[in-house]
Amino acid sequence: MSKVIEMKDIVKRFYIGQPNELEILHGINLTVNDGEFISIVGASGSGKSTFMNIIGVLDRATSGHYELAGVNVAEAKDSELSQIRNKKIGFVFQSFNLIPRSNAQKNVELPMIYGKVPAKERHERSMELLKLVEMDDRAHHQPNELSGGQKQRVAIARAMATNPDIILADEPTGALDSKTGRVVMDLFHRLNENQKKTIILITHNRELADETGRILTMRDGYLEED
Ligand code: ADP
Ligand code: MG
Repeated sequence: MSKVIEMKDIVKRFYIGQPNELEILHGINLTVNDGEFISIVGASGSGKSTFMNIIGVLDRATSGHYELAGVNVAEAKDSELSQIRNKKIGFVFQSFNLIPRSNAQKNVELPMIYGKVPAKERHERSMELLKLVEMDDRAHHQPNELSGGQKQRVAIARAMATNPDIILADEPTGALDSKTGRVVMDLFHRLNENQKKTIILITHNRELADETGRILTMRDGYLEED
């Protein structure tokens, strides 16, 4: 099996004004194989989102080694990071983060617009993805015309738009009732099994974490394997 993520001794410090700095992640090691579905649990404030931002190349580690799908992130230039991110990672957030004045289909197309995918291909692929999440009948609805679960399914279709290696989901069911959360979780299982996506799920919900292949616990900036 090939490794899609390899991290060694990842440290993250935030500078909070001279001479103070705050160390949030204290030397994390993590290897994720292609096609795994893993979850990260842990108390609020333990460093999960900080870690996810580093995995997702939204932020850089202060020190340590990080290789993402064969790319050495630590050595990449700032100008290369957004390109790496767009190609390799799809993000799903607790608060959906859809563009309010764009309909479902336009939201799914957005990463492809950034990726300069031709219009015809964009339209076709966005409809395919909306079909995959069973939202094709809502393609022309604005986010405020959709329920929470429907918004999250559109957000998941958008995360798939650039055919990323990894889906990173930070509390994706945190704003949903348990029944709707179930639908979203089933969708992640399908993407993992049928589309062979590697999925990293951050969740407070231990029952959902138990359904994944591997559970890691963030404890005060240390990542522990169960
Ligand atoms: P979690 O997602 O597990 O709830 P976070 O990763 O959001 O935790 O936060 C972990 C710790 O890092 C918190 O104490 C938070 O205040 C701190 N932190 C997060 N981002 C910053 C930042 N930009 N500057 C300073 N401290 C931060
Ligand atoms: Mg968080």
